[in-house]
Formats: sequence, C-alpha cells, structure tokens
Amino acid sequence: MPSRLAEIERKVLAGERLSAEEGEYLYQPQVDLHATGRLADEVRRRKNGDIVSYNINAHLNPTNICLYRCPLCAYSCDPGDPKAFLMTDQEVLALGREAAANGCTELHIVGGVHPEKNFAWHRDLLARLHEAFPRLMLKAWTAVEIARFAHQTGRSLESILGELVGAGLCSLPGGGAEIFAPEVRRLICPAKADAATWLEVHRTAHRLGLKTTATMLYGHVETPADRIDHMLRLRRLQDETGGFQAFIPLAFHPENTELAHLARPTGLDNLRTVAISRLVLDNFPHVKAYWISLGVGTAQIALGYGADDLDGTVRQERIHHDAGSTAPESLTVSELEAIIREAGRTPVERDTLYRRVKRNGIDWTIE
Ligand code: SF4
Repeated sequence: MPSRLAEIERKVLAGERLSAEEGEYLYQPQVDLHATGRLADEVRRRKNGDIVSYNINAHLNPTNICLYRCPLCAYSCDPGDPKAFLMTDQEVLALGREAAANGCTELHIVGGVHPEKNFAWHRDLLARLHEAFPRLMLKAWTAVEIARFAHQTGRSLESILGELVGAGLCSLPGGGAEIFAPEVRRLICPAKADAATWLEVHRTAHRLGLKTTATMLYGHVETPADRIDHMLRLRRLQDETGGFQAFIPLAFHPENTELAHLARPTGLDNLRTVAISRLVLDNFPHVKAYWISLGVGTAQIALGYGADDLDGTVRQERIHHDAGSTAPESLTVSELEAIIREAGRTPVERDTLYRRVKRNGIDWTIE
C-alpha cells in the first residue's frame, strides 16, 4: 500500500487533480515539506519551464480612509484621523507621470473604500490616468470596491465593469478575497463583500474578457481546511472561466491591526502554502511569490517550491508596510533579476497580461 504522500505524488505526476482531503493532508506538520516542495517545483517546471517573471510597476493607493475598517487591516483609518489621506488629482497624475517616466508598464491601484467618493470619482481617476499615460496598464479596484460601486449606483456588475473598461481599466487585482469561509470573514473582515460577491465580480470580469488575479490572506484565525476550501472555490471558478492569471498567497502581517496578538505565519508555513497552492490550483498558470508579503529571502526560496513570478518593482507600497512588512518598499530591476538568477532561473519581464516585454531603456514593446 503506497504512503499517502506517494499516492499524491503519483496523482500529480499523472496530471490528476488533488482532492480537498489531500490538500488538507499536505498541511499536516509531519508531512515532508521539502518533498511537497519538490513536487510543486515539478508542476511549476512543467507549466513555466525555467522562467520567473516580474513586472515593472508602481502602486497607487489614492486614500486610506475606509468605510469598512476590517480587523485585519493596519492601513485604513476614519476621516479626521491624523494619518488619513486622500490624494488630489494632481498627486495622482504626478504618480502616474513618475511611473511612466520610470518605464513602468503597470499601475496597481487599490485603496480604502472612501465613504464619500462615488463610482464616478473612481472611474474618472482611471480615465484621467489613461488619457495622460495611455501605455500604463491600469490594474485597478478590488472586487470589494467594484461591489461597492454596484451597490452605490444600483447598477449591475457588468455595467460597472464595462464602464471602467471604457475608462481604461485593463485588469482587476486579486485583493479582498482574504479567506472565503464565512466564519473567518466574520472575524477578520465582517463588513466587506462576502465570498459569493467576490467570486461573482471576478466571474463577471472574466465574462467581459478581463484577466484577473486571486489572493488568499493566510496565517490569522483560519484553519488549513479553510485555506483548501478557499483554493477549491477559486479552482472551480477557474474551471468555469479560465480568467485567472495567477494565485497570490499573502502572509498575514498582524502588526498595527486588531489581530496584533496573533503570531505571523512562519517561514515553513509560507513555503508550505506556496507549494500546496501550486499543487491544488492545477488550472492556474502562475503562482506568485509576492516579495512584499513574504519578504525577499522567503520569496526567493519559494521559487523552488512552486512559484514562478515575483510581482514587480513596486514603488510606494503602503498596505503591507503599515502592517509591519519589513521588506524594502521597492526593488530595482537589477535586484529582481539577480534574485531570480541566483535561484537558477531565467528572469523575464512581463506586462499585466503576462506577455513578454522587450525593453530598450524605459521604452518597451510587447513581444
Ligand atoms: S482591508 Fe480593505 S476594505 Fe478592509 S478596512 Fe482595509 S482598506 Fe478597507
């Protein structure tokens, strides 16, 4: 009788899908992490060869004022708080100008859900950026924000997303997914969009032809079964639409949140989660080791545990740093490429849609 891990190995190598029970089994501490990692690395190699992708991007967080005040969040605040900010149009455009001048292909735009800013304000912010910097790909507004726009206006998700595409939207980021299980959401983010809404926003985006990403915030009050349940809900939607480009496991940083009493996930938990997600999400093209969340060192090691993307240069990240991330606030292209080469992989710059970027200084074209 083969051991459970040997049977999982057989299934993975034969291209068979893992069950929820098998995913949960891989989370048991006695299961050999490095054997799991080697298996995930083989899946990664089959899907992506030796390539590790990154992009040259900047983050734009227009406000930290948020209606929802999730217990998991160190970033948001109420209006009137001394650390509250709301960027002016000029500041938004200045950040776009700086990104374009630095050769960025992408602006990643997410923020708090401002109680007084309506859909038109968010749409116009995109439209102004798109008009001024048409080559910058705008990956903007999480499913939580999109759901709020639909609620505010009484319009369908399809109509809201269609209008944002008309204003320059290129893709949706994967934030706001956290952990889908309702009993966990009640503790970490009770007021924001629920799992069904998050999934419906992405389903609608995919139907409109948008590509999106999916995240999972782990390492707080959830169980391994909750993590696997989260992955399986994503896997089912991906079977249906094929619209997800990458899965991004996000390690929880409890500092400055209402959950500050919790310990951070450990390095081994981070690697195990990258590896298991690569094995369970057999229909996702990419698994990202987001260095801002994992730290640069762990992200580099994760490239041997199933990850094939490092995200990007990321200028001016605030959300994870407010929660205590000690990763640098940005990496240069040379630093990213050196990290990838040292891991024995070939660095390739990609754009938001995972197309190869050919570059001549700050000028670039899509291959
Ligand atoms: S996690 Fe997002 S929705 Fe929740 S309080 Fe923070 S900014 Fe607002």
